[in-house]
Amino acid sequence: MNFEPKWIAWETTRRCNLKCVHCRSSSELDVVAHPDFSLQEAKQIIDKITSYAKPVLVLSGGEPLLREDIFDIAQYGTDQGLRMCLATNGTLVTDEVCLKIKKTNIRMVSLSLDGATAATHDDFRNQKGAFTGTMHAIELFQKYDIPFLVNSSFTVRNRHEIPDIYRLVKEKGATAWYMFMIVPTGRGEEIMEELIPVDVYDEILEWHYQTEKNEDALLMRPTCAPHYYRIVRQKAQEEGETFTRRNLQFSTGGSKGCLAGQLICLIDVDGEVLPCSYFPKSAGNIKTESFQHIWEDAPLFKELRDFKNYKGSCGCCEYVNVCGGCRARAYAMTGDYLAEEPFCSYTPKKMR
Ligand code: SF4
Ligand code: SF4
Repeated sequence: MNFEPKWIAWETTRRCNLKCVHCRSSSELDVVAHPDFSLQEAKQIIDKITSYAKPVLVLSGGEPLLREDIFDIAQYGTDQGLRMCLATNGTLVTDEVCLKIKKTNIRMVSLSLDGATAATHDDFRNQKGAFTGTMHAIELFQKYDIPFLVNSSFTVRNRHEIPDIYRLVKEKGATAWYMFMIVPTGRGEEIMEELIPVDVYDEILEWHYQTEKNEDALLMRPTCAPHYYRIVRQKAQEEGETFTRRNLQFSTGGSKGCLAGQLICLIDVDGEVLPCSYFPKSAGNIKTESFQHIWEDAPLFKELRDFKNYKGSCGCCEYVNVCGGCRARAYAMTGDYLAEEPFCSYTPKKMR
């Protein structure tokens, strides 16, 4: 595997107008300890990235649209040759925002939708009106012909709406739908008891496999459910089918289940470079070190790229190269990021 940075999420602010139950950064409207960086600092960070690589750069948060200079940052990134994307909760999207998205050549906008009804989505997002806001944003993206993808997170609270959300996202003309398997970090730690149990996850992932197989318009892939890559191989073999995977657009996924610190990373609002958005351990700080040095030399990244180091069932699994287990979930639940994926039911051949 060639470990190049292909996709970087950038926490451009930790401020947010919502308080979602699963938020990885525990965002709120006032985040005193982690202030926004200046436009000048943002440009320096982009320069450090582009002097080494040309990844997709996702302007994320918190809620990035709370930053008044977010489109100045987007424009600078586009001018430096980066493919810029925007991840928003959708509630602040207006006609003016859409015009700026077009003008700054943002390639893809991602939205979150965690319920097929206002009751479920607003409950998950802790805000009345959030569903209406997201639907309004989708209407505006359709009006301005802005490509968008939808991310959905599930716990036992909203999992019964998975097929309905899929249908809704498809009907609304999204480019892609990524079903996200929650990692209990940040505010997500508080919903540990709401996590979907392992056997139910298997059922959901099998449902996803059957649905994806018959889907030829909407791109779909569970995000951060790395063992889905195992399930796809097993199912395709059982059914004697060849399953042609379509190219995902502007997603973290594609070649392997978990890509943390291998093809992707997160830069947080303080400049810390983390393996992914849900992995609260820094490999280095981009304000004080070069991005190249962090990416190539950080011991944390080297460990994550050496699959021989993985422990438990992941360590002896024949699927480790295509899956790898979620390192962040292993870390959140055991304190050891090299431990086995806690949500995989598979017993590798070597352990039988
Ligand atoms: S460690 Fe890997 S699978 Fe887990 S959240 Fe991060 S990128 Fe996703
Ligand atoms: S044991 Fe680990 S590497 Fe193997 S399929 Fe499960 S999560 Fe993936």
